[in-house]
Amino acid sequence: MNKLNETSVQFVKGVGPVKKKLFSNLGIESVEDLLYYFPRHYQDRREIIPLAQVKIGEYQTITGLVLSCKSRRSYYTKKHVTEVVLDDKSGRIFLTWFNQPYLDHYFRKDVRVVCYGKVDMYKDRIQMVSPEYEVIEGDDDPLSLKCIVPIYPLTRGITQRYLRKTISQCIEKFRDDLVDELPINVRSKYKLSNINSSINNIHFPKDFNQQEEALRRISFEEFYFFQISIILRRLSIKFKKGISQKISDAEALEFINSFEFELTSAQRRAIADMRSDMEGNGPMHRLLQGDVGSGKTLVAIFGCFLSFKAGHQSCIMAPTEILARQHYENIESMVDSGTLKGMRVELLVSAMKKNEKEEVCRKISAGEVDLVLGTHALISEEVNFKDLGFVVIDEQHKFGVRQRALLTDKGGNPDVLIMTATPIPRTLCITLYGDLDISIIDEMPKSRGKVRTIHYNEDHLEEVYDIVRKKVSEGSQAYFVYPIIEESETLDLKAAEDMFKLFSKKVFKDFKVGLLHGQMNRNETQQIMTSFVNRDIDILVATTVLEVGVDVKTANVMVVEHADRFGLAQLHQLRGRVGRGKEDALCLLVCDPRTDEGKERIKAILSTSDGFKIAQHDLEIRGPGRFFGRHQHGLNELKVANPATQLDILEMARKEAVALTVADPKLEKDANIVIKKIIKRRYPTYLIDVKAG
Ligand code: ADP
Ligand code: MG
Repeated sequence: MNKLNETSVQFVKGVGPVKKKLFSNLGIESVEDLLYYFPRHYQDRREIIPLAQVKIGEYQTITGLVLSCKSRRSYYTKKHVTEVVLDDKSGRIFLTWFNQPYLDHYFRKDVRVVCYGKVDMYKDRIQMVSPEYEVIEGDDDPLSLKCIVPIYPLTRGITQRYLRKTISQCIEKFRDDLVDELPINVRSKYKLSNINSSINNIHFPKDFNQQEEALRRISFEEFYFFQISIILRRLSIKFKKGISQKISDAEALEFINSFEFELTSAQRRAIADMRSDMEGNGPMHRLLQGDVGSGKTLVAIFGCFLSFKAGHQSCIMAPTEILARQHYENIESMVDSGTLKGMRVELLVSAMKKNEKEEVCRKISAGEVDLVLGTHALISEEVNFKDLGFVVIDEQHKFGVRQRALLTDKGGNPDVLIMTATPIPRTLCITLYGDLDISIIDEMPKSRGKVRTIHYNEDHLEEVYDIVRKKVSEGSQAYFVYPIIEESETLDLKAAEDMFKLFSKKVFKDFKVGLLHGQMNRNETQQIMTSFVNRDIDILVATTVLEVGVDVKTANVMVVEHADRFGLAQLHQLRGRVGRGKEDALCLLVCDPRTDEGKERIKAILSTSDGFKIAQHDLEIRGPGRFFGRHQHGLNELKVANPATQLDILEMARKEAVALTVADPKLEKDANIVIKKIIKRRYPTYLIDVKAG
């Protein structure tokens, strides 16, 4: 029997060393990887419309030969325009693309092209603007015409046509070696098709029913094993012996009463949850969910305080240095004010000088520090705690399960609090983070101002500038945020840097303008932020580096240009940067959304400020992979399954996973040993600290 995950993709016909390298860019190494490289969407080419019969206003599939291909520069917008005329004997159509000069060489005369797009009429001629396109071989290619065609994510050097052919050949040669890992009783209970036909049908479905059935089957399998791995992880944590840490009610109250504001009841609940967990003998593994600005940090600091009083060390790991430093300064001021009296606090980030770092590490292992704030530098080998009792992981989606485990391994099963500002709906949360207990902060501090969000079209920019001038004259500070410019789209976008120049010389020349972007080194970043906090800067022009962290209470205006280019969660996070003081704040979104998805996002962000609603929306629009970030997240293991849109399948799979693990919590029965092997192969990081049993 072939082991498909150990068979190199080079064994597939048409894959030589060069293509092998390109495949590697797509994360494809083995035959299995290739079989599981699924289409992003499909094009229905079962019906090809003759050009003489296309319908204006409809999305249709057409094919024809290239009659001519010309390029020109648009007089008005200065854009590069590629114009192709396609002919199919019955008629002709014009195809137009903007700003894609490489297309000029793609469409050579007489090659056959398939297009899918909206047909429209412009100055008496029938055309498609920016259709999906593909050059194909001849008019009887069974994989490219008269069928439903899979469309895959690509990399340079690999075309749809090549990938389609290669995957088809791969299926033919290796499909019989596919092992069906889903237990037969589960399969028959839920009427799930076998893996062999599912893999074939997800790539090359005859109709959309087939595709749906295949997707259901493959998603079920993914959810099933993922749920088992999560449950095993949870059980293994429960089996462990941790540290029992506690403080008296009086001490806890003293902490709570030391603030000038009242804690919200959600904060109090989270604190109570933590107290009882940390007092228990098993290690705490708790997820703290709450919107930006809901006051999670305070809850985390309470845990550090508790651990300190109980005589142990603690640490907080943040995803960026700005954040780590902000925590550090925040906590230092609490030490000074008496809230954390006597606590010895240190900072550890990669940017520090070598000898400074060594000194901090020495103190950590000597037990001369009670709380360490840091970035992933905390995971490095030089860091050895004397007695780590409590670990906080901030913005967990920026760290992977593996990094989480590496940090907690630096102590003898410390209590762990994981914080996230990416709220997800409760049902989903339980299934995705089932290895953790969950506290939710669903309430904002009352003393906060309101944030009003308003959308402006790009031609109303002057109005926006006027508002900013007025607000800043009245004492506010303002942010201007621009998207990061990717190479491919330098043309239309304003760079933060250009705008900074324009603002300081012209638009806002009466104010102090600053610039913050990702290419700056740490010192520069630090300086700029400090100047902004000290009001040496009125208006800060920035890229998305602003997204995490920064907390400036007098900044009450935020302008986001090209707002439709940002993800929904990103916009929400950005908006969370204003309205952090008592004053009301403004968030002005400037854009002319071009895509439907962009329009959707703007609509959503205007309609609510509830992070949970926004998250649900985002999850639906983008799917879990992009929602949770591309890298290092356990959920990247889910290749097709989407918890947002397939909650029903997820729940069925979870039910089966629970039934299995209730009957056999360590998967020791003969029949289940194979399942344990599968879990080990698929989710190794989830078993990292499953040493028990
Ligand atoms: P998060 O980490 O959830 O984004 P933070 O913990 O940074 O939010 O809180 C934001 C700001 O609100 C901080 O300046 C903090 O001191 C303040 N804050 C926290 N809890 C309260 C509260 N209950 N009432 C008023 N202000 C609060
Ligand atoms: Mg404990």
